[in-house]
Amino acid sequence: LLTIEHLKKSFGDNVILDDVNLTVKQGEVIVIIGPSGCGKSTLLRCINALEPIQEGQILLDGEKIEPKSKNLTQLRQKIGMVFQSYELFPHLSVLDNIMLAPIKVQKRPKDEVKEEALALLERVGLAEKAKSYPRELSGGQKQRVAIVRALCMHPEILLFDEVTAALDPEMVREVLDVMLNLAAQGRTMLIVTHEMQFAKAVADRVIFLDNGNIVEDAAPDEFFNHPKTSRAKQFLNMFA
Ligand code: ATP
Ligand code: MG
Repeated sequence: LLTIEHLKKSFGDNVILDDVNLTVKQGEVIVIIGPSGCGKSTLLRCINALEPIQEGQILLDGEKIEPKSKNLTQLRQKIGMVFQSYELFPHLSVLDNIMLAPIKVQKRPKDEVKEEALALLERVGLAEKAKSYPRELSGGQKQRVAIVRALCMHPEILLFDEVTAALDPEMVREVLDVMLNLAAQGRTMLIVTHEMQFAKAVADRVIFLDNGNIVEDAAPDEFFNHPKTSRAKQFLNMFA
């Protein structure tokens, strides 16, 4: 589904991603972990063509995705992204936030989109919030709306960048549960998180990023119980 080959990304002279190679298969859930500043967010932004890359290529369904791709709008619709900071439109209701892109970008019929949006809200326990505005929601509720908004575009792959990092502890669970559900439904997901228990539970593969490269790529049991590199051991000790 997604293939990253020899990806190199730098900001000026500062090489952030050096030589990243990664293949994501349909239905796979991959958790990306690594020290702060190692380039996790940058990697997700490259995948979504929000950043130009210096070398290598990123293929989505065999098509090259980059900021200058001719069919970037089409390609981007295959990718759903959820950020730490929700990025909801403050002046739109929950329902309008969700319906905006399916109607404006995908030109889908309003009734159909509305029905789907309400069904998705129901699934994440927010049916009664459809008419509320983002400012009237808790952080956990806003994040669940942001996830529903991504889902309503029917993406082939979902990217999550530390979506629980800004939440109070009691709201983290409700968002992680939604993500566990999506994994159980067979969704393809790339998840950046510092929630190690969740990573263990949700991941098919764990990737450890350090110094611009993937230094470990293993099943969660293997990674958490027998990390191969001393950098990964050190990192995991911080959470022990
Ligand atoms: P964290 O865990 O703290 O979120 P991260 O792994 O997501 O960290 P990135 O945000 O990808 O790290 O940043 C990687 C490096 O790239 C950092 O050193 C950062 O300073 C640098 N960087 C990110 N964006 C830019 C930018 N637009 N211009 C210059 N440097 C940048
Ligand atoms: Mg980040």
